[in-house]
Amino acid sequence: MKPNLLGLSRDKMKALFFELGEKPFRAQQVMRWIHQRGVLDLNDMTDISKVLRGKLEQLVEIKAPNVVADYPSEDGSHKWVIEVASGSRVEMVFIPEGSRGTLCVSSQAGCSLDCGFCATGKQGWNSNLTVAEIAGQVWLARAQIDGFNAAAQRRISNVVMMGMGEPLMNFEPVMDAVSLMMDDWAYGLSKRKVTISTSGVVPAIRRMKEYTDASLAVSLHAPNDELRSRIMPINKKYPIADLIDAVKEYMASLKDKRVPVIEYTVIKGVNDHRQHARELAELLRTLPCKINLIPFNPFSLSDYRRPSDSVIRNFRVILQRAGFTVTVRTTRADDIGAACGQLVGDVEDLTRRQERYARRAEAMQNEVPEYYGQIGIERAQILASTGKAATSADDTLVLGS
Ligand code: SAH
Ligand code: SF4
Repeated sequence: MKPNLLGLSRDKMKALFFELGEKPFRAQQVMRWIHQRGVLDLNDMTDISKVLRGKLEQLVEIKAPNVVADYPSEDGSHKWVIEVASGSRVEMVFIPEGSRGTLCVSSQAGCSLDCGFCATGKQGWNSNLTVAEIAGQVWLARAQIDGFNAAAQRRISNVVMMGMGEPLMNFEPVMDAVSLMMDDWAYGLSKRKVTISTSGVVPAIRRMKEYTDASLAVSLHAPNDELRSRIMPINKKYPIADLIDAVKEYMASLKDKRVPVIEYTVIKGVNDHRQHARELAELLRTLPCKINLIPFNPFSLSDYRRPSDSVIRNFRVILQRAGFTVTVRTTRADDIGAACGQLVGDVEDLTRRQERYARRAEAMQNEVPEYYGQIGIERAQILASTGKAATSADDTLVLGS
């Protein structure tokens, strides 16, 4: 397969031109054409010689992913569904807020980590995106939002890897894509404004410092291992203490005084009790950080619910009194299914997923572990009849409590 220039980081672009016997500044020229002027046709790159263009034509391609659907939200946000090479569909969302414009980018089609509260997780893993498909989302967003108008360039001021997928489970492509986002020859975003959000893939967090100095957000969602393991299976492999250690190590590697954002999706009756807030404050006592509370965003395949505003307010106040800076994420783009955790790809996926859940629920009916007793069996029956399913037997308990 021909390399796609849209996905080549500065180092790889330079290496390509070196192999072709060309000067390194060619890499800079081509990167600027692609990422800053939006040009994908070699013939339009007028300061590149015809001979070199001909050579490149044979060896490479320059291709952005296809946009297959486009949903503007009433609140000014915008969601695009994109088809990637594997045939899967992923979503990216643009959220303007005052002078800031945040692009929420996907790194995988689906996700294998199966967090109980996440629509993408319920889909399972479909494929990893390539560098061109990840950085290509910034390219597409610029094409759609400002048509690569240099004056409007600042409309996308922030990128967060908080779309579909777990960025650190697609490590190298994400690192290369992030380097393009921050590269002056490409999108030139500040390292403070490019954020990788992770559910806590500890060995990958430990590797990150060798590749990037982007900002870090950590999906914690629970103040203790028992609860976190119940809603985030990855915690069984990498418990909270290891996660916090790895985060501290990464933050220490940065040359400025940035702190990580601790994300906490607040779910009614699961992790929203005052006691959870106190425990969280205690847990994070030694970690300089900001806390971002995300009121749970409901979606059709989940029985979790969003706590009332007053519960979220109280949760926040407890943390603030303990000295933390706490923000509450406002729900945006709800009307187009683009709020955090609602991204699922497309309708076809949804149908397939429903069938898969019905099958899983049926299997659960026969294999309900003993300790779930009657409640578990009844839930499995209800889920089977509605086409919904708990992602793990543990959900049954959480939902039942
Ligand atoms: N895989 C990465 C990034 C994608 S999700 C991660 O888990 O961090 C971005 C954020 O949305 C994460 O904090 C995630 O836990 C949260 N989230 C997932 N589902 C949600 C939902 N239904 N409501 C609110 N937040 C959700
Ligand atoms: Fe994957 Fe993140 Fe969703 Fe968990 S919250 S299933 S890690 S995308």
